[in-house]
Amino acid sequence: MKYIGAHVSIAGGLEKAVERAAQLQATAFAFFTKNQRQWHATSLASEKICAFHRACEIHQYTSEQIIPHGSYLINLGHPISDKLEKSRFSLLDEVNRCQQLNLTLLNIHPGSHLKMLTEDQCLKRIAESINIVLSKTKGVTIVLENTAGQGSNVGFLFEHLSTIIHNVEDKSRVGVCIDTCHAFSSGYELRTEHDCVQTFSDFDRIIGFKYLCALHLNDSKSQFNSRLDRHHNLGKGTIGRTAFSWIMKNERFNRIPMILETVNQDYWKEEINWLKSEQDKNRS
Ligand SMILES: [Zn+2]
Ligand SMILES: [Zn+2]
Repeated sequence: MKYIGAHVSIAGGLEKAVERAAQLQATAFAFFTKNQRQWHATSLASEKICAFHRACEIHQYTSEQIIPHGSYLINLGHPISDKLEKSRFSLLDEVNRCQQLNLTLLNIHPGSHLKMLTEDQCLKRIAESINIVLSKTKGVTIVLENTAGQGSNVGFLFEHLSTIIHNVEDKSRVGVCIDTCHAFSSGYELRTEHDCVQTFSDFDRIIGFKYLCALHLNDSKSQFNSRLDRHHNLGKGTIGRTAFSWIMKNERFNRIPMILETVNQDYWKEEINWLKSEQDKNRS
């Protein structure tokens, strides 16, 4: 069983995100629990929480199929202490929101060293931030997304994610989300089935499939190993359809949310249908 969906808008309320996912015939979805470009957010009112729960019940989504995305402002590896504190506080707030919504996964970008720390110092700082937040919360797993390696972002090598996990105390509450566009842009080949086998066997050796909590299914507008984060619709970019078709046929990606963040949302319904049909091909 595969959970396939997209990152849907929360305009009009969190329950609208659930409805949008249902309209797409998605079996998974992602969303922001607050405005992702603002630090401040009012706490979730109980009627909003109830409306979200009701919508999930009506449309039959369980927490296994839902992965909220954290704010883009959070930098858990920030070199400056007051900014680091702000990020840690903001992550704590996001985890609390997930708890209130009965959600168990929270997807975040690892962080950036801003050329003021070494990669290793930054990775250890990120792990420390996660340890602090995990010690104050329960029930939510922090899901680290691999990055394209743009600017001073860390997390573009599987080794980076593995180092963070290594330094997180409670390994039952840390996981990873692999974004196909970011992986390809940071130098992991995915164009042929052979490439996919190779890349995910590296993934398994360096990180381990047991930590895989989600996928972001995006084709790429940028070239292989360009370190540029530019999403494209499936089959329209430099990766091509083969990788996505391979993923759909592979049992190791069962029961984790797989989320489209492709540029043109008009194609989402079509993309979800195509991915489902690739999955079914393997079954018959
Ligand atoms: Zn992301
Ligand atoms: Zn991206």
